[in-house]
Amino acid sequence: MHIFEQQAALRAYVAQIRGQGGRIGFVPTMGALHQGHASLVRRSKAENDVTICSIYVNPKQFNNPQDLATYPKTLAQDRKMLEELGCDALFAPDDAEMYPRGYAQVLTAMEFGELGAVMEGAHRPGHFNGVGIVVSKLFNLVQPHQAYFGQKDLQQYAIIRQMAEDLSFETAVIRCPIVREADGLAMSSRNVRLTAEERVIAPLLYQALQTTAAALQRGHTVEAARQQGIQWITAQPAFRLEYLEIADVRTLRPLTEWKPGHGAAICVAAHIGRVRLIDNEVLD
Ligand code: AMP
Repeated sequence: MHIFEQQAALRAYVAQIRGQGGRIGFVPTMGALHQGHASLVRRSKAENDVTICSIYVNPKQFNNPQDLATYPKTLAQDRKMLEELGCDALFAPDDAEMYPRGYAQVLTAMEFGELGAVMEGAHRPGHFNGVGIVVSKLFNLVQPHQAYFGQKDLQQYAIIRQMAEDLSFETAVIRCPIVREADGLAMSSRNVRLTAEERVIAPLLYQALQTTAAALQRGHTVEAARQQGIQWITAQPAFRLEYLEIADVRTLRPLTEWKPGHGAAICVAAHIGRVRLIDNEVLD
């Protein structure tokens, strides 16, 4: 596997692949890789000639300094996993390489309208601004034909897909299913920060999504279903619920009613101890 820490070296590699007519698949990550990330790499490998993965913990998208300081870093392990998966290249820059003259050099505001105003956008000010800037930079460097994003971060996927379309990137943005632990907990790099007790109750978040989905499917109103999900979480005092929303899967606007066939996303964010977890379930 090629490992690049510098933009220039990555650009030269990309030019070579593109010169040979190769199709490039791209998997951007923040490292501390798990089977969720691995599923994106496998999918990219199956659908492209070359797969490039990036590992960069982008400070610009963290609204909580504590979260940034404690974000897990396991680069040696990540490299090994990517090598075993047959990933072709890894781009792992440091802050100076990504933002050589500090953040001021890049545009400072990306505005995503309604898509960026709800849920994660409302609760993590500046988060999608940072995501939009770093993903634009990475798309320009990697020039991928296809880029793979997890449904785990559904709002991020929706925003990046819209951004790629609005800014005329030639990259197709692809949504990949959520990979879960056996007990239903969505895999996340932040899960390692849960204590043993917190880890036992964390799957409750997914159970709340399933409770809400089942209520909708039984014909309960959107608000009644939402309240059932909320109760599931608030019954467990270790959780501090941030939001549980039932939204249109494309626009992410809150739904007032739902019928089978209408794409809905049930999205949740909650704190458990010092860790903030998000999850979602899509009903088609
Ligand atoms: P991250 O390293 O957390 O920024 O995630 C990098 C990519 O992996 C994003 O597109 C995530 O949505 C995706 N991802 C994270 N966790 C999972 C999971 N459990 N299943 C599928 N994709 C995931």
